[in-house]
Amino acid sequence: MPTKYIIVTGGVLSGLGKGIAAASIGHLLSSKLKIVPIKCDGYLNVDPGTMNPYEHGEVFVLDDGGEVDMDFGHYERFLGVTCRSTWNLTMGKVFDMVRQKERRGDYLGKTVQYIPHVTDVIKNHIFDVARQESADLMIVEIGGTVGDIENELFLEAMRQMKEDVGKENTIYIHLTYVPIPYGVNEQKSKPTQQSVNLLKQRGIFPDIIIGRCSEYLTKEVKTKISNFCDVDPEAVITGLDVDDIYEIPLVFEEEGLPGILHKKLNIYSPPDLRKWKELINNLRNPEKEITVAMCGKYTKLEDSYASIIESFNHCSAHLGCKIKLKWVETTDLCDASFLDQIHGIVVPGGFGSRGAEGKIEAVRQAREKDIPFLGLCLGLHMAVIEFARNVCHLKGANSTEMDPETPYPVIDILPEQRNIKEKGGTMRLGAYPAVLKEDSKVYALYNAREVTERHRHRYEVNPAYHEILLQNGMVFSGVSPDGRLVEFLELPQLRYFIATQAHPELKSRMEAPAPLFKGFVKACLDRMG
Ligand code: GLN
Repeated sequence: MPTKYIIVTGGVLSGLGKGIAAASIGHLLSSKLKIVPIKCDGYLNVDPGTMNPYEHGEVFVLDDGGEVDMDFGHYERFLGVTCRSTWNLTMGKVFDMVRQKERRGDYLGKTVQYIPHVTDVIKNHIFDVARQESADLMIVEIGGTVGDIENELFLEAMRQMKEDVGKENTIYIHLTYVPIPYGVNEQKSKPTQQSVNLLKQRGIFPDIIIGRCSEYLTKEVKTKISNFCDVDPEAVITGLDVDDIYEIPLVFEEEGLPGILHKKLNIYSPPDLRKWKELINNLRNPEKEITVAMCGKYTKLEDSYASIIESFNHCSAHLGCKIKLKWVETTDLCDASFLDQIHGIVVPGGFGSRGAEGKIEAVRQAREKDIPFLGLCLGLHMAVIEFARNVCHLKGANSTEMDPETPYPVIDILPEQRNIKEKGGTMRLGAYPAVLKEDSKVYALYNAREVTERHRHRYEVNPAYHEILLQNGMVFSGVSPDGRLVEFLELPQLRYFIATQAHPELKSRMEAPAPLFKGFVKACLDRMG
């Protein structure tokens, strides 16, 4: 069977959930097909690793160390695949490739142009990935909204694609918005018509239209969209507003999307949603409820912590417990007042000194009051600093990231990071193994001697302070195989005080929640009694 291509574009508004729609489509087709998701982003950064989360949401990290768009989190969680960094194509990467080819002399004698040279690089990259992965189906999501200047070259490449791989192997899905204006109380199709017109001007004629709406699309509006946009009426699908993104595959199934995809692409890969439905059902009908304080500094933009939020959703589905997150901005945190109605504390990853003292205070509250605590990457640094200051009596202990002049640099830059000047893609990135200590809580949670989690950091626990931390009762429950780096730590006398240098939230799945999150939620529930 030739590789099939589904190309997903978006119109009208940004933020309609194209990534989740693409991932849900993949989920519905994944029972029999090897699916590879590709995301094309129009910005000129080579990857999102150099943008702060306010610009672009969470930076998702892959096993291979790639820093990629947060949609890859959805792809991995919905498709059960381990993605690679080459699957995220940015205009920065594309121009890099074109420039390298030009300097090598690949275009010798020619004027290098957007069409065909840039569009060829885009298409060839996608074809190369399809070949390398022996993919049955490629789902290519084009970032942004049709009409954005920065995505024009990707759209042009996608237009050309159907000629290269055959019309019968390519379908275009366009996600739009169907508003119900206040007072009018009617589903409006005009924005969809206009957005499809923009797409058609670019030579792309959608086969399927997904209309995001707060209600199921009516027969009337579907007919109207079908008439004006030249798609089959049954190929107009509701993209319903839902409380939980995991419900989207169920909505699409109900709307008949799998059958349409099978027909249009001449494939057969029926979805098996039994387990998924069961988990969603648990998610919808929780029996208990806890509130977790998320103590960070990007708390105004929840997208910065997308994978952590999803990890908690996975725990909810498995433990039948609603988990409310209370966003605590640590720049303002200086006492225990944030603890009201709180069952557990998370200090997530982060960068720079702003808010650090508040995070250290949050750790102190957790340790002194025996409130379940989970520290992630920077959260581990904060836990070590707090312990060094208040238990080991190392006054002024800090990380050299926060205070380069600290008398006790308990957290210091990794030696191999010291001379790195370039910022892009140079952290300790990707999957690294850790060897766990057999009688530790972390070992019990993972039930394994060696585990692999993903990383994104430059600083670590300074080996010069390992001894004093250990003497004072901290346990290093997981270290790198050479014993040099502390990957997991815990305070065994407390009910749940665990931190890791890694980001276990990146590998959490609906079917298999991250063990440290599950353990943390259980500890919160136990404490509640
Ligand atoms: N800023 C810290 C470091 O670079 C922690 C990074 C993180 O939390 N991802 O080591």
